Amino acid sequence: MNVNEAINRLKAIQPTTNACVTIIEDDVKTHEGVLSDVPIALKDNVITKGILTTGGSKLLSNYIPPYNATIVDKLKQAGGVIVAKTSLDELGMGGTGTASFNGPVRNPFDLTRQAGGSSSGSAVVVAAGAVDIAIGSDTGDSVRKPASYVGVVGTKPTYGRISRYGIIPYASSLDHVGYFTRDVRLAALMCDVLSGQDKMDHTSLPYPSTTIAPSLQDNVKGKVYGVFKEVLEAIDHPQTLKHFDAVCRALESKGAIIKTISMNETLLRTCLPTYYIIANCEATANHSNLTGVNFGLTQEGADVETIMTNTRTHGFGPLIRKRFVIGSYGLKDENQDKLFRKAQKVRRLIVEEFNRMLNECDGLIAPATTSIAPLLEGANMNVLSNAHLIAENYMVLSNFSGAPSITVPIMPVDGLPHGINLTCKIEDESTMFQLALAIETCVKEGL
Ligand code: GLN
Repeated sequence: MNVNEAINRLKAIQPTTNACVTIIEDDVKTHEGVLSDVPIALKDNVITKGILTTGGSKLLSNYIPPYNATIVDKLKQAGGVIVAKTSLDELGMGGTGTASFNGPVRNPFDLTRQAGGSSSGSAVVVAAGAVDIAIGSDTGDSVRKPASYVGVVGTKPTYGRISRYGIIPYASSLDHVGYFTRDVRLAALMCDVLSGQDKMDHTSLPYPSTTIAPSLQDNVKGKVYGVFKEVLEAIDHPQTLKHFDAVCRALESKGAIIKTISMNETLLRTCLPTYYIIANCEATANHSNLTGVNFGLTQEGADVETIMTNTRTHGFGPLIRKRFVIGSYGLKDENQDKLFRKAQKVRRLIVEEFNRMLNECDGLIAPATTSIAPLLEGANMNVLSNAHLIAENYMVLSNFSGAPSITVPIMPVDGLPHGINLTCKIEDESTMFQLALAIETCVKEGL
């Protein structure tokens, strides 16, 4: 795929999918490297110097940043060419691709369905064959869930492994840069390209850059895949379960060991509420600078207070206004201990339990989602069911702990894409790509 072909394809799919906020036709290669002339799309919460960066929000719909995110410079240094800024749920909040100021994103395999979110557009441009690489961000599952819904590989390396300098934040203790690729080998190469400590990002950890791709092998003899028991039990879609089982049997025939691993169910059912408290509180604090005073789409007002109120009232969509109300409530002096601080303590218990599970295997696997992408209109699920609380949202566990996690597409369910999620120990991307490659190979070889 060359740059011109990518731009033409992006233009062709835009009217039906709404995957892009901006298609960029004038970026050029500035360096030679492993990504020379490779077209790359960026989620529109990645800050790009001189190029509109909206974060999916009306409030930032006129924002042209004066600097680049570190990862943009890294991609350029590797020879990459930026061809698009892609649609996202506003400020990364949401999982449907329907909460952006520029309208819903549609799944290219069935335009009546979601592509998932919040990195919706990035997932779609890879799935539709416009680019081989698109950057996303993952705070709760925002790369790994859409990857499942559109049938591409979605990767979230270890927390702190890839710089977040210049990524519009959502929740700082949970935010990760992630990315979509067509296959696992390219996912490993992207980890090598993007990883490395960045002094501009105080959450960046002192890990050296990885060099995984050159020696990546499809060999899982003796490796232990842990099957996440409670997630499987919370899924009632027979074909999802049948396909997952077929992949496990194929891995066994490659010499891998399949072992069932269980999590304390009370802690597991607590994950999503704990996540929402932490994420909404952190988001509320992070976005207190979006007032229209220094930048953004400023609204009229007689004094500064009114300008800020009008800007935020008219600049944010209903979903994130609601989340900021919840976040402000959780951060109030009288509530902070019983909500935000308590959620942080529960998170620690969850992470201890999750690390215990990861120590019992080389990688933990489960279907990434219960079934295929939901319909854009009329989708609904009982939010207190285990299907929702556990099977649809367990992937937040690796945001809580920072563990590397990847979704790999397997066989279609009801004729539409679907994936397996795999999570490994912190810092162990090397094993993660190895185990993921074996899954991909089994599927490509027809099991
Ligand atoms: N759907 C989750 C949320 O709305 C995850 C979002 C994300 O990972 N950015 O918070």
